[in-house]
Amino acid sequence: SKAKYQAKAANQRRDYLHKLTTHLVKQYDVIAIEDLKTKNLQKNHHLAKSIANASWRMFRQMLEYKCEWYGKKLIAVDPKNTSRICSKCGYNSGAKSLEIREWTCSKCQTKHDRDINAAINILHKATPTGQGLAMVTS
Ligand SMILES: [Zn+2]
Repeated sequence: SKAKYQAKAANQRRDYLHKLTTHLVKQYDVIAIEDLKTKNLQKNHHLAKSIANASWRMFRQMLEYKCEWYGKKLIAVDPKNTSRICSKCGYNSGAKSLEIREWTCSKCQTKHDRDINAAINILHKATPTGQGLAMVTS
């Protein structure tokens, strides 16, 4: 049945998030994430998006309590401009639609993977000195 399928999918997601967060917390001393506002997340009524939002909240909660268990540090940073700024030169080239996965900075010509560039920006915000950290983006 559909309900059974959905319950199974939810269990698999929870399992996956447990494995992922345990792995991250054991491996790294400091983890930086975007401090996404739950209010904004809840505005979306598309099913795929609401599942992604629920997963993000669960992911963050697991990170929070597991960081406490293991004595690790979780740093949530303001997500503003993390996908707009070039992590190499700091130039803000504005919003990019979600289907753009790679882009080139118009100022320094560095070619970026969207997620990795955002992760580096999150890292810079979390720790200006930035050493030995796990990078996680939504
Ligand atoms: Zn640049």
